[in-house]
Amino acid sequence: MDNATNEGTTAAAAPAGPAPTAHRRLPVTLGRRYLMGFDTEELPQMRSDVLVIGSGIAGLTASLGAAAVGRTVNLVTKGKVAETNTWYAQGGIAGAVGEADSVDLHLADTLVVGAGLCDEDVVRAIVDEAGDALRDLVAMGVDFDHEASGAIDLHREGGHSLPRVLHSGDATGAEIQDTLSGRVRRAERVALFEEHFLVDLLTAGDRCVGALVWDPAVHGLRVFWSEAVVLATGGAGQLYRVTTNPAVATGDGVAAAWRAGAELADLEFVQFHPTAFDSAANPKFLITEALRGEGAYLLDCDENRFMLDVHPLAELAPRDVVSREIIKVMKRCGRPNVWLDARHLGEPVLRARFPMIFETCLEAGYDLSKDLIPVAPAAHYSIGGIRVDIDGSTSVDGLYASGECACTGLHGANRLASNSLLEGLVLSRRIVRALEPASSGDGLRISSQGDDEETAIDPAPARSLLQATMSDFVGVNRSEDGLSRAGAVLDGLCDLLDATPASPADLEVQNMVTLATLTAHAARYRTESRGAHWRDDFPARDDAHWRVHTVWRRGARPRLDAVRSLPMPPAQDVS
Ligand SMILES: Cc1cc2nc3c(=O)[nH]c(=O)nc-3n(C[C@H](O)[C@H](O)[C@H](O)COP(=O)(O)OP(=O)(O)OC[C@H]3O[C@@H](n4cnc5c(N)ncnc54)[C@H](O)[C@@H]3O)c2cc1C
Repeated sequence: MDNATNEGTTAAAAPAGPAPTAHRRLPVTLGRRYLMGFDTEELPQMRSDVLVIGSGIAGLTASLGAAAVGRTVNLVTKGKVAETNTWYAQGGIAGAVGEADSVDLHLADTLVVGAGLCDEDVVRAIVDEAGDALRDLVAMGVDFDHEASGAIDLHREGGHSLPRVLHSGDATGAEIQDTLSGRVRRAERVALFEEHFLVDLLTAGDRCVGALVWDPAVHGLRVFWSEAVVLATGGAGQLYRVTTNPAVATGDGVAAAWRAGAELADLEFVQFHPTAFDSAANPKFLITEALRGEGAYLLDCDENRFMLDVHPLAELAPRDVVSREIIKVMKRCGRPNVWLDARHLGEPVLRARFPMIFETCLEAGYDLSKDLIPVAPAAHYSIGGIRVDIDGSTSVDGLYASGECACTGLHGANRLASNSLLEGLVLSRRIVRALEPASSGDGLRISSQGDDEETAIDPAPARSLLQATMSDFVGVNRSEDGLSRAGAVLDGLCDLLDATPASPADLEVQNMVTLATLTAHAARYRTESRGAHWRDDFPARDDAHWRVHTVWRRGARPRLDAVRSLPMPPAQDVS
């Protein structure tokens, strides 16, 4: 990764730095380099030019793209191929393809929502490639909705200044997932390994040379050597008790990258979606923002539209603003939810534009055209992740990351709706173009000693304690008091990092402890409120000190990197 990110920038004031208490446990190391003991010579071996981990939009695009330029690909995914956040995406994928639209407008909207933390060069590169990337998706068979005139039908969502979201009904993710999965299954050079779990990345010196993967068939490890590894492991909504993310979203790739010495960035920024259907189901069913874009209201327990006095965009205010207000109203009303009112839109419109949501609500006993729908905020999107440049390179040679597990700087401090599918799509295309032939670790011997005293892990109670702690103290509203309480609980859970995992469930909980601890640290470190990160004790945005990315690397003190939009401050060390 090119670290010369400050070229052509101007200096800003040094960050004020975190509150003294937050320094106490820095730098952070968190457990062993490898979670399990192994010796590659004793394990079954696989080889490919490129190893892709994850089968959502980012992993499938990288796999198909690499195969198309003649590379052999091993694609490893921990569930069935479609168990991804991608499959759940409803609203659609953003792209400035409408007649009245332009790359500049898409860029401007992204920057506004990103609250001063977007890297402008990244935003421009990604929104600029949207048109080509979307055309290629259509050529591969993705069926976006069209108007009667034949023009592509575009939805408008929160933060977009005009309709810009391509969609397939309200199940866009499933359409993209199924189309690309079908292509991958038929691709000659791609070998798909479902229900194979990435345990750790293998490094030799400063280079990533492959990965250790848990193979359920042998109930043990297998080595996958490769010239390049692309992490496309998605988000980490499962760190929270209430989330829209499926069970696979446990942040494994980010935690593995951390253990391998890669830089992570902006972990404090977790986006909560304001309107998840409030039911006993887990994950929570999302009621897309496009429904509010169509005119649905949010009502409190007295059936008043409470967003009208809060923000000029009312129900379409940025997600963090709506989520915080909903939580206030829930507390005031003593209820676990507020109400979404779409009754005035009428059954024909609701059924035509939101067929999947209409049916799902009906199955749960709610008729969108007659009933108020109970909704509440849920953890939705990991804005931070593995720090990458605009070609997806991480700080470790041979290691790339794309999609929700990566942090490019596109989203800044808050994600513009429907920009994430686009990011995974474009970044993976760029990774494929940037791949350079290199030597893989094939022939190397890498080993790690396991723990002599094998301590067993009981993953279920640890997982629920972690989720409760993150929801209570590292959620929509944060404060020094809450974050230090979270720190204390998570410190206790860190003992699990020394235990010997015996199953993917154990490995997941170890990854969750790692990422939750880092997220809580990052949230405590940033003593301001910005975008998706809200501190009750620091409610103001502090551009003079905090218009910077926080960068974390194992065993190092956190670094603050300049945001790339001229004129900019250079990177600052806060040791
Ligand atoms: C309900 C919902 C609605 C959304 N709606 C939209 C929308 O309308 N528009 C939009 O732009 N975005 C939306 N998003 C966000 C968007 O869907 C995701 O950010 C995006 O799909 C992420 O794609 P990805 O390829 O990075 O990861 P994913 O699609 O999540 O794929 C990650 C893959 O990594 C695999 N994996 C994880 N860990 C391991 C491991 N240890 N070993 C092997 N494999 C592993 C998983 O099994 C999975 O295959 C939505 C998200 C949700 C949850």
